[in-house]
Amino acid sequence: MNKKTFTLGIFGGGQLGKFLVLAAKKLNIKTFVFTDSLDSPAIYYCDNFIISNYENKKQLDLFIKDIDLATFEFENIPFKTLDYVEKKIKVLPKPSIIKILQDRLKEKTFLNSIGVRTTEFYYLKKINKKILNNNIFPVLVKTIRLGYDGKGQILFKNKKNFLKHSFDNKEYIIEKLVDFKKEISIIISRNKTKSVCFDAFENLHKHQILQRSHTPANISSKLNNEAKGIAKKIADKLNYIGTMCVEFFVTRKNELLVNEIAPRVHNSGHLTMNAYNISQFESHIRAVCNLKTKTPKKTQKAIMYNILGSAIKKYRSKTMMKNEFFYDYGKKEIKEKRKMGHLTKIF
Ligand code: ADP
Ligand code: MG
Repeated sequence: MNKKTFTLGIFGGGQLGKFLVLAAKKLNIKTFVFTDSLDSPAIYYCDNFIISNYENKKQLDLFIKDIDLATFEFENIPFKTLDYVEKKIKVLPKPSIIKILQDRLKEKTFLNSIGVRTTEFYYLKKINKKILNNNIFPVLVKTIRLGYDGKGQILFKNKKNFLKHSFDNKEYIIEKLVDFKKEISIIISRNKTKSVCFDAFENLHKHQILQRSHTPANISSKLNNEAKGIAKKIADKLNYIGTMCVEFFVTRKNELLVNEIAPRVHNSGHLTMNAYNISQFESHIRAVCNLKTKTPKKTQKAIMYNILGSAIKKYRSKTMMKNEFFYDYGKKEIKEKRKMGHLTKIF
C-alpha cells in the first residue's frame, strides 16, 4: 500500500462483504464492491459499487480502473472473471488457487497429494457404480462446483437408492458420510512473509447449514495445535495470501479429516468481531493489503448463532443483554434458510 488513497475492490456484496468493507474503513482503506445482486448488504457501507453480472467486461473495466487491488467475499465468482481482472490488476487470494478450491475434486486431490487426510471420495463419472463397495454407504453426493450451505448435496443411505437415482449432467463427487464426533474450523491469514491463526471454532450444522459456532472449541490443546498446523501447511503449500478457513471433521478416534477449504472469511469466524483483539475481516484486509499482521488473541469466550429466514423478525424487536451482539445483515428479502443475521454472546 503506497498510494494516499488506496481502494480495495471486493467481489460479492453479502454479509461477508459488508464486514470486510467495515473493517477496511477502520484501516482508512476505501472500498469498491462489485456484486451481481440488488439485495447486497455491503453496498450501503462501501465507497462505490457496481451491480452487474460478473461476466460484463465493460463493468469489470470500470471497476478495475478505480481500484488498486481486488479480493472477494465468496469463492464462486466465475474463474474467468477473476482471471480477466488479474491480467490488469492484482487479485488476492490468487485466482489460480481459487481454481483448485472452487472444485471439490481438485481440492481433495490436492489435499491428499500434500499428505492431508480427507474423507474417502470418488469422482462419480469415473466409477463403475455397480461395483462400488457397499461399505462406503451412507454417502453424500455433492456437486463439484458452486455448492454452499449444503446446496447441491444428496444423501444416499444405501446402494439401492443410489443406483436408482438418475443424475443430471452436472459433475459430482461421491463422498463417504463421516460419523464424526464434532466439526471444527481454523481460520488462518497469511501475507507474503507470515501467517497468523485463530484457535479452532467448534461448529454445529443442521441440514448442512451452520447453526452455531463457539470458542474455545471443546477439544484438547494438542488437537487444536494439530489443526492449526494442518491449516498452516495448506496455506504455505498454496503460497496463499489472504484469509481462509479450513473445515475439519473430528472423528470418533480424534483424528482430523479436512472437509473443505473456504478461500475467504467464514461464517464460523463471525464471533472474532467480539471475542478477539482482531476480527477475521481486519485480518483478511491486512493480509491482502500487505499491512502488518496482528496475532489473534482471544479476549472472551463466545458463542455465535446464525439467524435464518423469518426468525430474524423476532430478533429485530428483541432487547439485547449487555453481552449479546446482534447483527442484522439488512437483506431485503427474507427467504427460508437464508442467512439474515447472527447473534454473538460473550462470556
Ligand atoms: P458446503 O460447501 O455446503 O458448506 P460442506 O461439504 O461443508 O458443503 O457440507 C456442509 C455440512 O454438511 C458439513 O459441515 C457437515 O456438517 C455435513 N457434511 C458434509 N460432508 C459430510 C460428510 N462426508 N460426512 C458427514 N457430514 C458431512
Ligand atoms: Mg462447508
